[in-house]
Amino acid sequence: MAQKKSKALLITNGTVVTLGDNNRIIGDGAVLIVDGVIQAVGKAAAVKKQARGAKVLDAGGKVIMPGFINAHMHLYSTFCRGLSPKQPPAKNFVEVLERLWWPLDKALNGKDVLYSSLIPLIDCIKNGTTTIIDHHESQSFQTGSLSVIEKACRKAGVRSVLTLGISDRYKKGGEGIEENVRFLKKIQAKRKKGDDLVSAMMGLHALFTVNDKSLKKSCDLAREFDCGMHVHIAEDKADQAANKKQYGKSVIERLHAAGGLGPKTLAIHCVHVGDREIGLMAKTGTCAVHNPESNMNNAVGVAPVMKMMEKGVLVGLGTDAMTTDMKAEVRVANVFHKHAAKNSQVFFVEACNLLMKNNAQIASRFFNRPVGELKKGSYGDVVVMDYQPPTPMNGNTFLGHYLFGICAARVDSTIVNGKVLMQGGQLKGLDEKKICAESRKQAADFWKRF
Ligand SMILES: [Zn+2]
Repeated sequence: MAQKKSKALLITNGTVVTLGDNNRIIGDGAVLIVDGVIQAVGKAAAVKKQARGAKVLDAGGKVIMPGFINAHMHLYSTFCRGLSPKQPPAKNFVEVLERLWWPLDKALNGKDVLYSSLIPLIDCIKNGTTTIIDHHESQSFQTGSLSVIEKACRKAGVRSVLTLGISDRYKKGGEGIEENVRFLKKIQAKRKKGDDLVSAMMGLHALFTVNDKSLKKSCDLAREFDCGMHVHIAEDKADQAANKKQYGKSVIERLHAAGGLGPKTLAIHCVHVGDREIGLMAKTGTCAVHNPESNMNNAVGVAPVMKMMEKGVLVGLGTDAMTTDMKAEVRVANVFHKHAAKNSQVFFVEACNLLMKNNAQIASRFFNRPVGELKKGSYGDVVVMDYQPPTPMNGNTFLGHYLFGICAARVDSTIVNGKVLMQGGQLKGLDEKKICAESRKQAADFWKRF
């Protein structure tokens, strides 16, 4: 059955910021969404003429703009909040995986996955994040796991691209491939019928835990489904060292040899990629996704983001589950690269572009219509930001307002697919208190199993 369509929604009485290549700032502006799709953007007086009978959301003079996009997320990580690992503290990146993340994802069951997903999805709505590209792992509960996350995303109303990260670390790579194939078939059938809220990709954990058989098979399937690969790449030096030792190739070279690079493939992190690898990514149109807060937290190094951008690699911005708040992540990106380069003059425009432009381009590859720009024909994914510019805001001054004003402001309202998920700071349709209470019970049980 096709997804239920929303009726017409007029978001009016605000300053519209369209973003996109031709960013327009429209005072006294409005956006009209019909059946989930933007029908008109412009001066309120003109847009209103097309909006007879539409439900009206009064933006109260605030900023109306596209919702934020998170290009790399792990919904499953929620129950690590406050968790004490049983083993001694990790001394390096691989020990972080072995002592926290791998035991965590091995212990997750279906109900854990459901509540782990719902909690950050609520946070997404509150932070104005309307699209997430998620990377899931639950090694003891792989079959059917993506449908549990899909259920949570549909309940929350957040647009999402889902995948399971295949890994052979417990000899369950084949099962992971089957789950991705099952889910891709289901989702591609739904999308053909116009139900485009949830999309799907092929996914790998990281190449150092994936054998050649699983790698080749998943790359072949990604091409067959035309869905791209979502994979952690050279987050730590250990990934490069293990691949070179066992397979005689760098991580990107090995993925390239298996046919896994391409415009829908998301190479996550790329902290330790060299010139040859950046060249291969540029040549194949492969995207990178930068996660600055996570990289700093794990002390894995500084990704060569400026170099990748200069060489023509499309680089997006993700949070790696450190937060659901892209406004916070983009400000971290800005200061991280200035600090690392010991140069206050770099990375201001680049940081803005990661989130404003590149994430929109990347996410739009996985849906039938564009996201991340307010224009006719794009999906109606919109936020109202509680921001009153204290200095003149126009095309020349916008980036300063974006990074230091809008991205530091409170989210007033969040709309996905023309459906109002939060208005005036109040969630619609989700009982946060009840869901959090149930989550705490479930997490306490999970901690005993961890
Ligand atoms: Zn990650």
